[in-house]
Formats: sequence, structure tokens, C-alpha cells
Amino acid sequence: MTATIYPQLDIPQTIAAGPGPGNTDARVLARFAGAGLADHMHGDVLRGMVECKHMLRAVMGTDNVHTFGVAGTGWSGLDAMFAAVAPGDKVVAFVNGTFSGIDALTIRMKAATAEELAANSLDPQAASVTIIEVPHGQSVTGEIAEAALAEHKPKWAFMAHWETGSGRINDIQGFSDACVRHDAMGLVDAVSSLGVENFRIDDYPGVHAWASCPQKGICCLPLTYAPVSFTDRYIEVLKETGARTFVHHPIMEARHWGIVDGKDVEKGTYHRTHSAYAVAAFHEALRITLEQGVAARAADYAFHESVLREAVSAMGCEVTSNMTSLVVLNLPGDLKGREMELVQTCRAEGFGIWPTLSEPVQVRIGILNLLSQAAITDIVNRFAEAIRKMGGEVEQAAVDAVLARHYDAAIAAE
Ligand SMILES: *Cc1c(COP(=O)(O)O)cnc(C)c1O
Repeated sequence: MTATIYPQLDIPQTIAAGPGPGNTDARVLARFAGAGLADHMHGDVLRGMVECKHMLRAVMGTDNVHTFGVAGTGWSGLDAMFAAVAPGDKVVAFVNGTFSGIDALTIRMKAATAEELAANSLDPQAASVTIIEVPHGQSVTGEIAEAALAEHKPKWAFMAHWETGSGRINDIQGFSDACVRHDAMGLVDAVSSLGVENFRIDDYPGVHAWASCPQKGICCLPLTYAPVSFTDRYIEVLKETGARTFVHHPIMEARHWGIVDGKDVEKGTYHRTHSAYAVAAFHEALRITLEQGVAARAADYAFHESVLREAVSAMGCEVTSNMTSLVVLNLPGDLKGREMELVQTCRAEGFGIWPTLSEPVQVRIGILNLLSQAAITDIVNRFAEAIRKMGGEVEQAAVDAVLARHYDAAIAAE
């Protein structure tokens, strides 16, 4: 038998107007492709990792020494964050969409006893884990967090900061306060909020671990690093009880980033074979974020999201999200129920919007790194065209008026 050699793989240019991955900056791709072949213990690679660590602390707003990148995607960072959760640990997890649902599954896998895991290994029901379900389209509020932590008094509490599945911002202040009040250690999935919202993790003392991703607000898809940050208390607890992983062990993984025995050292020591390409790309992405500034970037997202939200509302759509990196919506009138069909039509034409991944089916349009009048106008017009193609009516003058009002005012203000 001979092996099939397929033709070279060509992947077309599309408009990544979904919840993620975001549009990686050309500067990031240039650094990725431009890195020389340096091994993972080369001086410039190690220096780059130490510089990334310092820039990441600025982006996340933290003095946590244990702040670094976990190689891989968002789930890689989250897996490292959940590494400290041991079988039998008492956990309360808040779920209000697809991603927090998967986080909760991860937690149940980690907290399950051997018997519980064996009984249903792909979906274990861990008696020590309490899942608080909040309906799709709604946020986890401070009251919900307070009530659950007061009742269960867990060792760990988990929440997604921004639940990308339903496009909802959860109450991080209320969650942190409840964690402090009931002495639970907060764990937060900040995959969708980092680099999009203006916040400092150190302002939330109830949260002891944060995990994000390379491909959303940080705009560094070319498989790089999932930012994570851990407080000293988390690290102390982890040191006492341990974790059943080498590669995603927060204390061990930190060593390559020059964090040894809880202190910054000049040079990292071997943990795994880091890629010079990935380090160079991540470094550039962090530089871009800091050059613009987290606050300015967040203001840009808020502005452009508000334009998109108003434009699709002028088409008769109902927006149910409150995140600033995407809108989640129901189609108007007669088109209700045809959300999946519309998304598939758009995707077939290289307009990469998304459906929700769990019920109910809604449309998600994202603007990650699409923060310009030209990009938003293009998205709005393509979306209007897709509605018309399905037989819906869009009053173009009303849509144009929304765009003109916001963008002309913005130009006038400059
Ligand atoms: C995207 C996302 C994830 C998963 O990230 P990957 O990069 O796909 O691993 C997890 N949580 C939230 C809230 C997300 O938005």
C-alpha cells in the first residue's frame, strides 16, 4: 500500500467575525515567521520568555509572581488552573453557557473520587462538586454567588468572567466578594475578557487563579500561550496537596519562565521544548496590547460593539448579550428559528460568524481585532445581505443612519 500524499493545504482568507479566534495582527505573524531556529534554552528565547512574563503582569494588572503562559489553547491554561483541584475537594461551579459548562466538566473530572470517575469516566458526577446552573442568556450575579457560597462553603469556587457561549458578562466583583466572605478560593475563566475589558485581576482578592487564552483578546492564535496567574495562596495550597500532572503543574511550568521557588530568577530552567516562533509571536502580541493600552483597547471594543448592536437592532434582531467583543442575537420575525441556516450561508461565503454551540440556537457575530469603521461597516452590510437573501427585509437607510451617526460623530470628535 502506498501512502496518499494530499495536495498542499490551502486555507482561504476569511473574515473571522466570530467569538474567536480573533484576527491575529500581521505584526504577530511576521514575528512568528521571522524567528530564527533557536532552541528552547537559547539566551534570547529565555530572555523573550522573561520579558513576556513581565508584560503579561502589566496586561493582567497583577503583582502575582506566578504569572506566565501555558503552551497551547485556552483549555490548556484552564487545565493548569484546575490542576490544584484534588479528588474529593468541595467545589461550587457556576455555569451559564457552553464554556463554563466544559469548565465544570473539567472540575468534576478533577474532583471525582476514583470510584466516581470509573462509574462514568467521560461525565463523572462528583458528589463534592455543586453545579449552579444559570439559564442561557443570563449572567451569574453577585447574589447567586453569595447564596451558593454561603450555603456550601466550598474550598474552591469557579466562574467564567465572560461566558462566550451566551455572550454574558458575569459579576466578577460579586463573585470575588463572596469568595472573600466565605473563604473560598476563586478560580476564574478569563478566556474571553482578557485584552477586551479594562480590568486588573489584583482588584479581585477573592480570586486566586485566572486563566485566559492566546486567540481572543490577545490576538495571538499561531498556537502560542494561554496566560495564567496564581496568587501566593493558591501556590501554597498547591504545594501542600500537589497535582497529578507534570506538564500542567503551575509550579513546574513556571520554571521555564524564570519563576523558581516563588521568585523571579534571571533565566528559566527546562520544563518543555518551547518554540522560538511562539515566544516571538506572543511577545509581539503583548507589545501591541501595551502600546495601545488595555483601557484604550477596551474603549474601542465598547464603541464598535455598540455600533454593531444598534445596526443589527435596526434590522429587527434581538440582541441578548452584553459582552463587548461580540453580539449574540435572535433573528427578526419570520426568520426566527432559521439562525443556523443563516450562519451556514454566511460561513460558506467566507463571512465567519457563528451559531451558539448549545441550545437555544442564536447567531454570534464577533469583532475581535476588527476595530475599525471599515471592518464594522463590512460586517453590518454582509449581515444585512444575508438576511435579505433569506427573504427578510432590511431597511438599508436605517442601518446606514446608525453607522453614519456613530462614525461621523467619532470622526468629528477627533
Ligand atoms: C474560547 C473559550 C474557551 C476555550 O478556549 P480554547 O482556546 O478553544 O481552548 C474557554 N472558555 C471560554 C470562556 C472561552 O470563550
